[in-house]
Amino acid sequence: MLKTIDSLGDLNGKRVLVRCDFNVPLKEGKITDDGRIRAALPTLQKLLDSGAKVITMAHLGRPKGQVMPEFSLAPVVQRLAELIGVKVTLAQDTTGADAKAKAEALATGEILMLENVRFDPRETSKDDAERAAFAAEMAALADCYVSDGFGVVHRKQTSVYDVAKLLPAAAGFLVLKEIESLRKATDNPERPYTVVLGGSKVSDKLGVIANLLTKADSLLIGGGMTYTFLAAQGYAVGKSLLEADQIDTVKSYLDQAKQNGVELVLPVDVVVTPEFKPDGPTTVVAADAIPEDQMGLDIGPKSRELFAAKIAESKTVAWNGPMGVFEFPAFAGGTKAVAKAMQDGTAFSIVGGGDSAAAVRQLGFDESKFSHISTGGGASLELLEGKVLPGIEVLEA
Ligand code: ADP
Ligand code: MG
Repeated sequence: MLKTIDSLGDLNGKRVLVRCDFNVPLKEGKITDDGRIRAALPTLQKLLDSGAKVITMAHLGRPKGQVMPEFSLAPVVQRLAELIGVKVTLAQDTTGADAKAKAEALATGEILMLENVRFDPRETSKDDAERAAFAAEMAALADCYVSDGFGVVHRKQTSVYDVAKLLPAAAGFLVLKEIESLRKATDNPERPYTVVLGGSKVSDKLGVIANLLTKADSLLIGGGMTYTFLAAQGYAVGKSLLEADQIDTVKSYLDQAKQNGVELVLPVDVVVTPEFKPDGPTTVVAADAIPEDQMGLDIGPKSRELFAAKIAESKTVAWNGPMGVFEFPAFAGGTKAVAKAMQDGTAFSIVGGGDSAAAVRQLGFDESKFSHISTGGGASLELLEGKVLPGIEVLEA
């Protein structure tokens, strides 16, 4: 059981340090998608309503332990203030003199945002003592800690893991909701349980495939990893994405699936084109007849029907990884078909993975038609893999 905010007791007048995921996409200093800031609002609002003085900490981009102004959280301060309607102040440092002074002066009902935690190399240090020292500086700013940055809970980092050991700690609403939803699929899924896997590489998702071969009833394979599976069955894949060094591993997966009675469904047809570009000529070919000079960039219409039918008869569906290069409209059909089948079906439906979640939004689907769209790519994948996440472990009662 995860500790909840209520377990922290009376928060009136207390300083509460909250780890958020504010790692938003920026273009020329402007936020292009504020989804992650919005996702943090329920917890921040609850803390403000409880009379707490709220101090947020987060990272942005990859400054690699150096102060880099282009990765300042200043744009997030402004957007958060607009969304939540209270005063939000930015500390000029993370745990330095300015952060201390501003934390001290913080009034009830206001928010202080500490500057990018990754400006300090100790945040991501592999050295336990370095992280512990940084955590002590963080802990000195507040009375308790709330973890709500789901996108980082798989990281053993100071603001996620070490600081939680020094203060009374609890999970925020976003982390609770993510964990509850993902555990519905991983711990005791209502069956049939179907998992749809796609994306670019098999090697990114080896762990999750191995784990699912013991848990899921059906595994539908699409996206770039299709071609390594087809090659493992002895088919030629032309110029398609192929990880030749994974063919043996994939062969063992095909065997394991048979032994465990897991239905492994591969595309029966694919959309091919001669070059990796949006507007080349496209042809639908059978999965065992990919021309030598072409590459598969999407699953074909028969495969879409097959996948949609499997999804329709499922009670739980988890999806990670686009079925094709959905960024090019000509190759978005497979991804659309999976999203539509999940949206129309009655199963408990989970979407995990940064690109898959982005695809759902970009292709114009109504997010509320899915049971859960995860905000964390790596974290949701590791949960599906059955791993214990450091940032979750420290929040267990
Ligand atoms: P997620 O972030 O949802 O976990 P991934 O990062 O694994 O997904 O993969 C997403 C990428 O996979 C997309 O950018 C998409 O263009 C690419 N992709 C999907 N199908 C193919 C394919 N057949 N060939 C090459 N790339 C593909
Ligand atoms: Mg991705």
